[in-house]
Amino acid sequence: MDTTLLDLQHITQTFHRPEGRDLKVLDDVSLSLKEGEIVGLLGKSGSGKSTLLRIIAGLISPSTGTVTFNGMPVSQDALGIAMVFQTFALFPWLTVLENVELGLEALGVAEKEMRGRALEAIDLIGLDGYESAYPRELSGGMKQRVGFARALVVNPAILLMDEPFSALDVLTAETLKTDFLDLWVEKKMPLKSVLLVTHNIEEAVLMSDRILIFAANPGHIAAEIKVDLRYPRDRQSAAFTAMVEQIYTLMTSGMQKRDVTAAAQRAEVTMYDKLPRVSPNQLAGLMEELAAPPYNGRADLPALDQALGLGTEEILHLIEALRLLKLAEVAEGDIQLTPLGKMFADAGTQKRKMIFAEHLIQNIPLAAFIYRVLQSRPGHQAPRIRFLTQLEDNMAEEDAEEALSAVTSWARYAELFAYDDNAEMYSLENPSA
Ligand code: ADP
Ligand code: MG
Repeated sequence: MDTTLLDLQHITQTFHRPEGRDLKVLDDVSLSLKEGEIVGLLGKSGSGKSTLLRIIAGLISPSTGTVTFNGMPVSQDALGIAMVFQTFALFPWLTVLENVELGLEALGVAEKEMRGRALEAIDLIGLDGYESAYPRELSGGMKQRVGFARALVVNPAILLMDEPFSALDVLTAETLKTDFLDLWVEKKMPLKSVLLVTHNIEEAVLMSDRILIFAANPGHIAAEIKVDLRYPRDRQSAAFTAMVEQIYTLMTSGMQKRDVTAAAQRAEVTMYDKLPRVSPNQLAGLMEELAAPPYNGRADLPALDQALGLGTEEILHLIEALRLLKLAEVAEGDIQLTPLGKMFADAGTQKRKMIFAEHLIQNIPLAAFIYRVLQSRPGHQAPRIRFLTQLEDNMAEEDAEEALSAVTSWARYAELFAYDDNAEMYSLENPSA
């Protein structure tokens, strides 16, 4: 089990943007895939996971660093490496069979062989009988099975999976994961190794032999965890939940030095840091929940995640926001309300707004900045574009929009300043103050 199939050394990726600063998305990423293993790459959205997969597949070349597959540099038509996408990426005007055959067309396989192999792949992945159906006639789960068949039909040695289950409902995703693992364990696929990108901790623990924890800004591997559990894995087992817990702790303990969460701990958030887009009502709801029994101010994160059922990524965003606002702290896999967080939870609406406004000004530089600009302008008004342009010059476009939306919704709740959606104008709620 020690044969290295794929090897990445010191990969960095910087995107050059026509205006504003260049964006460094990956920083010194080294990893290898060995024969017989499923490796999970676990990280939040925007951390550069898809970019890394595109580099491995030879679709883009990295700014620096090398990718070798079987000891050879990977090129554009990386034979032996196939990919499954989150969005299925099927052609609507082609049938299931034709979509799968497409995987082979580029390889110049003879028509008859192409058909035979496509039918085999369709059969293997459980789509028998759907050969002449069109994508629109299929459920999400079936569509993704086509995605798998199209990847597997080329007999790849390595399968790259980019959040392949995250667009599916929970039950459908579960079935597909189990089916895939059965095929893997029984060696029914020609695959030698799998790289699974996900933002779901349970999914990573369910499927991987090794988990690489990917941290953001810029993307880098922050930790590696071996999962020594036999397939099929039992989510209810003590070993499984302990592993999920351990990863939670790693992902929330501030070990991700370059993350905004860690920046928040050091009280160094700048105007250009990413902000999680969560609604103030959800934040308030979470604080109430935390303050009340059985938690009484402190909760085990995985237990809280289970109890709320919002999804791990959502919870991580909410917690990040509470930490940034200094309304809660995270330690050893637990979240704990700060004294002011407790006060907030116990307060009535007006007092809550005051506490929130105060925390926004003190801890979120972007909120303070917008507030100051509005104060300094004669009419106490400014268009959205005024702030968006400045943010976009200094951070990724998506992140800029997201940060501005987050601050806007928080400030509205706190009545710190107002925003008119139609006019796209900010104004002070109470200019005389
Ligand atoms: P993930 O898959 O982890 O969600 P991505 O790799 O898709 O992350 O994106 C990471 C960052 O790189 C994002 O901020 C995204 O906007 C940026 N990015 C991705 N591709 C490009 C590109 N071609 N040009 C500029 N920025 C890009
Ligand atoms: Mg992605």
